[in-house]
Amino acid sequence: MSDLHPNPHTDTPPVVLLIDDSQFVHRLLDARLRSESIVLLSAEDGKRGLEVARGEQPSLILLDLDMPVMDGFETLRELKEDPCTKDIPVIVLSGMNSSQDKVAAFDLGAIDFVTKPFELTELRARVRSSLKMSLLLRMLAQKAHIDGLSGLYNRPYFDEKLRAEYDRTVRHGQALSIAMIDIDHFKSVNDTYGHPAGDTVISGVANLIMRETRSFDISCRYGGEEFALIMPETEPQQALQVCERVRMGCEKLAWSRHPARSVTLSVGIVGVLDGDTVSMTPEGWVEAADKNLYKAKQQGRNMVVATGIDGQPIQLAKAG
Ligand code: GH3
Ligand code: MG
Ligand code: MG
Repeated sequence: MSDLHPNPHTDTPPVVLLIDDSQFVHRLLDARLRSESIVLLSAEDGKRGLEVARGEQPSLILLDLDMPVMDGFETLRELKEDPCTKDIPVIVLSGMNSSQDKVAAFDLGAIDFVTKPFELTELRARVRSSLKMSLLLRMLAQKAHIDGLSGLYNRPYFDEKLRAEYDRTVRHGQALSIAMIDIDHFKSVNDTYGHPAGDTVISGVANLIMRETRSFDISCRYGGEEFALIMPETEPQQALQVCERVRMGCEKLAWSRHPARSVTLSVGIVGVLDGDTVSMTPEGWVEAADKNLYKAKQQGRNMVVATGIDGQPIQLAKAG
């Protein structure tokens, strides 16, 4: 495998987009970068380059400065202003070699600057190092969203996604359910078997939640022994089924540190149907789910309490 591979966990080669009005440069780079196991995409002007960047999300962009219609500076400015392309590293390729141009390109957010006519081995080395850097930055960004003990998303990520999914639901009238999950009598697990045993319970419950939820559900550790699920495009009735699976799964888990003692969960859910009007804020929604969780605790724990956003109870549909 080539050193250029940006992601050791997948077999897909990195995609590099070349935006340059010169056919000669396209042919030259296509030939010279072929051995590097990358996929090279081409755009012959800035406008087309922006379209391809948005659609294909390349790992790296090589951008010529001197192009007709929309020049490289303008293209770079637009790339860096669009949330969907702003994190893609850009290496500027230019026949202009003034410090002023270099400073302008770096100020606009270019990661590197290569002067034409370029030395191909040098360009290859720069492409390689930019791809490595972009991989490390992406790994770091992802790590910042993950809770260390549970492996689920952390609280800051929950807050960010809650806002995004809430906005989507309000704008498009899509169903959305939020669930709060809390481990029952967790303090007594800690007190009886020790804090490390408690930690094992937290990560065991997190694994179960990951297993029982779908890939598009956002599972988070909300704090301590409490978890939160954001379930996009999911009506409360479906959310109830998901959380019942988690609740029943937990009841049946065997714990090596305390085989005689099972662990149970209480869950509160609030959700809206497709087309429902959303009458509360995202924070109010979480509070409402927390109230349902509190009801589940009061009614004896090891239970899921679900309501619509109007407070109407949702029951589990009978099978068959
Ligand atoms: P309830 O059924 O009402 O939820 O009772 P509970 O005992 O689960 O709830 P309580 O809020 O009284 O206790 C939560 C405990 O969780 C207290 C705290 O020390 C413990 N805890 C919080 N974070 C961690 C952690 O990361 N690891 C461990 N082992 N314990 C934690
Ligand atoms: Mg608890
Ligand atoms: Mg708690």
